[in-house]
Amino acid sequence: MRLAVLKETKAGETRVAATPETAKKLIALGLTVAVEAGAGFASGFPDAEYAAAGAEVAPDAAAALDGARIVFCVRAPDAPLPSGMLLVGTLAADADAVAGYAQGGIEACSLELAPRITRAQSMDVLSSQANLAGYRAVIEAAGTFDRGFPMLMTAAGTIPAANAFVMGAGVAGLQAIATARRLGGRVSATDVRPAAKEEIKSLGASFVGYEDEESKSAQTAGGYAKQLSADFYAKQAEVVAAHIAKQDVVVCTALVQGRKAPILVTEAMVASMKPGSVIVDIASDAGGNCAATIPGQMVTTPNGVKILGFHNWPGRIPAAASALYARNLLTFLTTFWDKEAKAPKLPPEDDIVAGVTLTRGGAVVHKNFLPAAAA
Ligand code: NAD
Repeated sequence: MRLAVLKETKAGETRVAATPETAKKLIALGLTVAVEAGAGFASGFPDAEYAAAGAEVAPDAAAALDGARIVFCVRAPDAPLPSGMLLVGTLAADADAVAGYAQGGIEACSLELAPRITRAQSMDVLSSQANLAGYRAVIEAAGTFDRGFPMLMTAAGTIPAANAFVMGAGVAGLQAIATARRLGGRVSATDVRPAAKEEIKSLGASFVGYEDEESKSAQTAGGYAKQLSADFYAKQAEVVAAHIAKQDVVVCTALVQGRKAPILVTEAMVASMKPGSVIVDIASDAGGNCAATIPGQMVTTPNGVKILGFHNWPGRIPAAASALYARNLLTFLTTFWDKEAKAPKLPPEDDIVAGVTLTRGGAVVHKNFLPAAAA
């Protein structure tokens, strides 16, 4: 059975869905792996390394897909896929795309929809990528900040430690806290989920936030933050406003699943910050947590605050992001692999399979896209 790895086509996508390491392991399962030429180039994996791992380097997407039964991707591919193909990636599909997969006879699996359960942790693409995004956000903040993170005591005088504030303490935020602490910053963080408060403190950061009856139940059964009332957000903003004025670096990571990111840093808060301060908004792909973020860009405000609102933060650390993402996909396939038949076996009743499978046998099967979900 042949598995194709295509070169990503979405602008700015630097990652690749298989590395030479995972290609070798896929081959060990009994697969033939065809990698489109140049697929790993932007993440530092040259064609020769795939060839050395035993993969076939195909000159273009059509050649890689020829005879393939499985496609691994980061984003949904533009290339038309033959019927019967198992497509695995982070497809971010809307209803039209899902209908298209069904019509085309594609078995589409979108791993960002996997349940956040222990058994799925090693295939959790959201966590692996958010972790690196949180790290990268702090590194880019440090690179942009015109002082330093640690307190520097020198014969010529002392430079104070940077005050860094992390908004949203999920996977990305916790890694941002840890990274900012390692760099020597004075770190504080906020979140609305009660469980996050202890996690923030356990990493040595101080908690800054507003808590009330509403926030006691701010977490969904799946562990995500709920959308809260306008009154709650106003009170949270009051507490945060005074704190932000004293910060050198603000890292925004707050998301509410399925919605636009909440605005937590207003224009007035940005205006209260010192010149040279840096806001890194890794929620930018969901609209951003800062009102002054321009998604995809770095801007400097009239009062000299730099706001980094780049897209695709994991793609800014592509070798590591690809290595982890590729292992997530490898683990998914090996978990649902029939060793005898040397073929994927995806039991529809399995929690993970049901969570990720959009279409099967020409029909839409995912609960989010069935007619009842739209009603
Ligand atoms: P996320 O990316 O959806 O959101 C990031 C953070 O923003 C969350 O901590 C959220 O509470 C926070 N947030 C939302 N609104 C906010 C506001 N107004 N102010 C401040 N913060 C706000 O979250 P995530 O990183 O994907 O993590 C979601 C949950 O899933 C967490 O509870 C995490 O521990 C859990 N998780 C579980 C597993 C597992 O068991 N396999 C794996 C990964 C994550």
